Amino acid sequence: MGKRVLLFPLPYQGHITPMLEVAALLHSHGFSITIFHTTYNTIDSTKYPSYRFILVDDEEISSQFRSLVGGMVDRLIAWNNSCEHLFYDCLTSVLSEKNDEPIACLIRDTYWYNLQYIAKKLRVPTLVLRTNNAATLNVHMTYPQLVQKGDIPVQESELDMPVIELAPLRMRDLPCVGDCSYEVLSKLFTDFTNAIRASNGVIVNTFDVIESTEVEKFQKAIPIPVFCIGPLHKFTPLTRSSLLDEDRSCLEWLDTQTVGSVLYVSFGSLACIKFEELIEIAWGLANSGQPFIWVVRPGSILVKDEVDFPDGFIKAISSQGKIVSWAPQKEILAHPAVGSFWTHNGWNSTIEAISEGVPMICWPHFSDQMGNARYIVDVWNIGIRLEGKLERGKIERAIKRLMKEDEGAEIRQRMREMKHKASVSINSGGSSFINFGKLLNFMSSF
Ligand code: UDP
Repeated sequence: MGKRVLLFPLPYQGHITPMLEVAALLHSHGFSITIFHTTYNTIDSTKYPSYRFILVDDEEISSQFRSLVGGMVDRLIAWNNSCEHLFYDCLTSVLSEKNDEPIACLIRDTYWYNLQYIAKKLRVPTLVLRTNNAATLNVHMTYPQLVQKGDIPVQESELDMPVIELAPLRMRDLPCVGDCSYEVLSKLFTDFTNAIRASNGVIVNTFDVIESTEVEKFQKAIPIPVFCIGPLHKFTPLTRSSLLDEDRSCLEWLDTQTVGSVLYVSFGSLACIKFEELIEIAWGLANSGQPFIWVVRPGSILVKDEVDFPDGFIKAISSQGKIVSWAPQKEILAHPAVGSFWTHNGWNSTIEAISEGVPMICWPHFSDQMGNARYIVDVWNIGIRLEGKLERGKIERAIKRLMKEDEGAEIRQRMREMKHKASVSINSGGSSFINFGKLLNFMSSF
């Protein structure tokens, strides 16, 4: 007889994908899967016929969230507060069902912190899925202490100072999210960390070779089991998880390009850019002469409803590049024609690039992205950083450095080694493979 796992993803692409990847992994090991999702970014359940889906909220609640003024952090806090009773109702209803398959545990996204206490009240063992890397666990744990010490808010003159407690990060690598105040962030990170402390363990989409020091550090402070089982997308049988329709025509176009020649440009599912930046990116790409695929998500240009490219740009790049509104990113990164990735350094994009050995041009926007870029550029040396105000000349220069010069060739070589390590970790006998076995044992001990 199998066991059931209840999964609660946060309704954003970068959180839904890794949760579905964990679901597919567990399903392939005999677990039944129940996924709780929301009307906001609803998962298309017809794509996963073997799973059971339960909608937590209704359209009325969802539209309240949509109309929330304020940023992502406000929305996250509001969601946690409003969904508390909804989660309680859904969970009690599932627990009261007659079902031959006992519940093994609940797996929740780190950001559903209030859910932790509901599960505890209902005596359901809980694992936390960390969709960012392990280093961010330490950042969230330490940020409130830095506020207490007076290191945060960071003074302009101290931006390049090291954060002693979070080496190798500098003050400028610490998270910021839009206009959110450091007091609100500090409270939020305290809530995340306390809820993790109250859980049974953490699953992280990373692998030991790159983050064992960060995991050890975290476990010293919070001694609960941590299972690094990444890169998840390479380990799981799940193939598709996109919320948006992918423009797959770019794969055929890639087939016509020279090996290693194409720059892939994407800033993920949430980051937005200014109109002035769009213009600089457009001409920076065109002037570089390098073939490219550029993802321009509808709604991703601040204050503009429509995407307006500069006059003459589309004609100028007609035989050089492809612009799409959403791409099959993992397949693009795995394509031999792709030689570099200009990214915002969301963790999924980062680990996807590492898994395919594609060096990065880092242009972090918010949250953990600055910290991720710090590791990529200055610790692992598998990318370069675009700094300061975005200008076409800087973009052109960065593309040349990474794709044409000796510096780029050295980075590419290190990236190849990194790709190899990632692949070893998920193969039989590798660290993520072994950690997954430990996770299964742990889940059967509940
Ligand atoms: N992604 C995609 N197509 C695109 C852009 C992004 O499939 O055109 C996927 C990407 O593969 C990754 C996710 O969206 O899995 C973005 O997650 P990430 O953590 O990189 O950034 P976020 O969107 O959370 O900022």
